[in-house]
Amino acid sequence: MVRLPFRDGFYELRPSKIVALAKNYAEHAKEMESDVPEKPVFFLKPPSALIGPGEPIILPRMSRRVDHEVELAVIIGKRAKRVPAERAMDHILGYTVMLDITARDLQEEARKKGLPWAMSKGFDTFAPVGPRVVDRRELNIDDLEIGLKVNGQLRQLGRTSQMVFKVPELVEYISSVMTLEPGDIIATGTPAGIGPLRHGDRVEAWIEGIGKVEFDVLAEDSILC
Ligand code: MG
Repeated sequence: MVRLPFRDGFYELRPSKIVALAKNYAEHAKEMESDVPEKPVFFLKPPSALIGPGEPIILPRMSRRVDHEVELAVIIGKRAKRVPAERAMDHILGYTVMLDITARDLQEEARKKGLPWAMSKGFDTFAPVGPRVVDRRELNIDDLEIGLKVNGQLRQLGRTSQMVFKVPELVEYISSVMTLEPGDIIATGTPAGIGPLRHGDRVEAWIEGIGKVEFDVLAEDSILC
């Protein structure tokens, strides 16, 4: 569970699932040497991967390359089962920033072998969120700047208007497969500029209108006895 500031108090984020989009920005699909999909492609990240501001991203010893991906995270407010795009917004509570941390070497290996991504996307701390939840009625998400720096250096910069499939379509598509419960998160894909994280790095990620969130990066071996 992660607590984030929301309205006058806090919101306790306890998703039953985190649904994450693959290749939802054309420039990112290109850097992955892949085409933009004809329909949304999504996978699941476990809720156990969530961390909030003040907690470190841990680089697992099972991976030699762990990447950052900054994404707009949509938080579901009302149960959504087969919801048409026109009514999708009624089911959204608000938004936050999420990093879809990815063990890229394990993902590449899985891609080659046709295996699932669950492992490469699912390590503990691989879903950092923050700095707060913004009420959906207070933010138009059609065209917001989204970016990420590592140790002060710009790595990712895009606009939410570059999403291939927009949020209402995503809610319609995903909710036609699985019921979205209050608190569930849809991570809407990352713009171009993904890159590796190393022990000791400091990551800053932001979305216009939501704010900036920062995380330290530590190697697993540095924190275990
Ligand atoms: Mg992603």
